[in-house]
Amino acid sequence: PVRVRFCPSPTGNPHVGLVRTALFNWAFAKHHQGTLVFRIEDTDAARDSEESYTQLLDSMRWLGFDWDEGPEVGGPHAPYRQSQRMDLYKDVARKLLDGGYAYRCYCSQEELDTRREAARAAGKPSGYDGHCRELSAEQVEEYKAQGREPIVRFRMPDETITFTDLVRGELTFTPENVPDFGIVRANGAPLYTLVNPVDDALMEITHVLRGEDLLSSTPRQIALYKALIELGIAKEIPSFGHLPYVMGEGNKKLSKRDPQSSLNLYRERGFLPEGLLNYLSLLGWSLSADQDVFGIDEMIAAFDISDVNPNPARFDLKKCEAINGDHIRLLDVKDFTERCRPWLQPPFAPWAPEAFDEAKWQAIAPHAQTRLKVLSEITDNVDFLFLPEPVEDEASWTKAMKEGSDALLRTAREKLEAADWTSAESLKEAVLAAGEAHGLKLGKAQAPVRVAVTGRTVGLPLFESLEVLGKETTLARIDAALA
Ligand code: GLU
Repeated sequence: PVRVRFCPSPTGNPHVGLVRTALFNWAFAKHHQGTLVFRIEDTDAARDSEESYTQLLDSMRWLGFDWDEGPEVGGPHAPYRQSQRMDLYKDVARKLLDGGYAYRCYCSQEELDTRREAARAAGKPSGYDGHCRELSAEQVEEYKAQGREPIVRFRMPDETITFTDLVRGELTFTPENVPDFGIVRANGAPLYTLVNPVDDALMEITHVLRGEDLLSSTPRQIALYKALIELGIAKEIPSFGHLPYVMGEGNKKLSKRDPQSSLNLYRERGFLPEGLLNYLSLLGWSLSADQDVFGIDEMIAAFDISDVNPNPARFDLKKCEAINGDHIRLLDVKDFTERCRPWLQPPFAPWAPEAFDEAKWQAIAPHAQTRLKVLSEITDNVDFLFLPEPVEDEASWTKAMKEGSDALLRTAREKLEAADWTSAESLKEAVLAAGEAHGLKLGKAQAPVRVAVTGRTVGLPLFESLEVLGKETTLARIDAALA
């Protein structure tokens, strides 16, 4: 049976790269009817926080992910927070030491640095040089007498490590590139290098799907796994698949610190979870060459890790918004009407408590649904309906009000006054006729009307907007613009 895991560290806000990793693991688990383990890698007390932990869970739920084992749901390998599993790691570290798979290293940071510099200068590999691998009892006594506190270091076998990456194919690492590495700090705290593969072993993970940035730790983890198997702690080495980097602006790796990468930002801007997940699935994968928009079930049905492209994927905000817009179009109109609510309330819409009108909202919502890319756009698009006067926007005004606009507006007012206000089509004909009278095409003729009535140059379908706003208010606003 397939067992995969998603194991973020709760540091800072969740970012889109992390969501992409979660998504691929989730889709892989679902596709294979396997188990998704959600584990919290909170061993770095200096960087982890309870707030990030809470936010992480909240984000995962908002995205619609579920997990079979982990926080909130429990499971046979509980606890699922590494900070609560320290005794397990210490126990494994002791067994590795006893079995000779690891050793105590007494080198000071200064000594390590000096030797590393020297190796570099001589053009030799600059990783740990094995200094403490075979210390004699006397040397150990001497170091102890000097008050040195040892770290625990894993002894890398002197052999080439080859594995078949599920995304990248066969990869080979030679021993000089993978030196012995620390697994327990001098103060006794187990390190990520130990706890991550130990948990994968104890939790019987079969497939490790994670970002390319972790590729270099894989040969070390495979070597450690071999030791764990010999010690009877692990059953078998999992398969590994490393997902491509996500590139941001200027073709640089999208970093956690990039504002563009913050999940909260997408949530606040009103991306739909399904739209965002659809777009993120395209970072390294595709359903087919001619279909960019699809539902999560389609992704699950089709997801094959060997189809993932190893090349860096570019994060394209425009495309992300376009796909989200398509998902907005796919919503049931009732659902759309409800999902917009947060942006029709403070702090997004400070006017709402007094001015909001449910009937008008119900009437305009279907027309708004045809236009939005993200839900937060709703606020500015409908405020003309609720505010006593349209917003004052100098730039829009200057742009739309040209010479002759007054004359056009006067004719438009006349024709609109005579139009049938139960039909947007009739309102359109009125403005069309006004335009014809002044030698203007519809687009040119409707611009001053739109600005006079809504305060903006772009917005929802105009004639439907006028219909919902009503005859009296529309004409009064045109009068105000002419005054
Ligand atoms: N906790 C690691 C991280 O947040 C994940 C390690 C892994 O997937 O193996 O980067």
